[in-house]
Amino acid sequence: MKQPETNGRRVFLSKLLGGGVAAAGALMGLRAPALAKVLEGPDEGFDPGEHDYVFVVDIQKCIGCGNCVRACGIENNVPEGQFRTWIERYVVTHEGVHVDSPEGGMNGFEAIDPALREQAINAFFVPKLCNHCAEAPCVQVCPVGATFTSPEGFVLVDPEHCIGCGYCIQACPYGVRFMNKERRVADKCTWCYHRIRRGQQPACVTVCPTGSRSFGDTRDENDPVAQILKDDQWDVLKPGMHTQCQVLYVGLPRVVV
Ligand code: SF4
Ligand code: SF4
Repeated sequence: MKQPETNGRRVFLSKLLGGGVAAAGALMGLRAPALAKVLEGPDEGFDPGEHDYVFVVDIQKCIGCGNCVRACGIENNVPEGQFRTWIERYVVTHEGVHVDSPEGGMNGFEAIDPALREQAINAFFVPKLCNHCAEAPCVQVCPVGATFTSPEGFVLVDPEHCIGCGYCIQACPYGVRFMNKERRVADKCTWCYHRIRRGQQPACVTVCPTGSRSFGDTRDENDPVAQILKDDQWDVLKPGMHTQCQVLYVGLPRVVV
């Protein structure tokens, strides 16, 4: 799918110029039970209003090792066979695009089938996770406010209020949500919200051996992600959905959906 190069720029500009509006929108997305839970006992030294986070994935650096998938599963107690983040392998030929993700890529990938390899004109890995959309359809459809946007812009699920209707899973254009088979509630990546509030990085970022994944605060000009944004060489998945993704991809080939 062709992705307009200006789309990513548009999202970033809206974050810079409309920060106040975005924050107000985020707060409007909160409903009473979830809001109370999030604001309850903030970690010492953490000010929700002082940050503007983004997650950056550099496609050219991903080697498909699966460290991130395994770390996420352990950190977040994700049931076996379900994934908050996963890796897709794309093999591009003149005839079409082949995508696979065995066990979410958690154990890495076998060598490309020799017949397919012969035809390949490009091959690469694409890490996937929740985009923490600023205009999140999943938040909009939740009938009980269990899916909400935190004051820092994280899209979260309050498991104590989720009724397991699955509307949010259907509404997400990126297929990143699932029904947790053990808890019977909607589940997805939180960008390791619990770790961020303690001043740590998401688990997947800390174990990536190549620096393909990075996470940071665009309000801090010394943060490497701020520089990536300034360089303006990034894109988002499915820009036509206009959900204002906050996961930015560097080096994203146009065939990726
Ligand atoms: S990627 Fe899907 S689950 Fe994540 S915020 Fe966007 S719509 Fe919601
Ligand atoms: S840990 Fe890094 S290099 Fe390995 S699969 Fe994940 S994103 Fe790719």
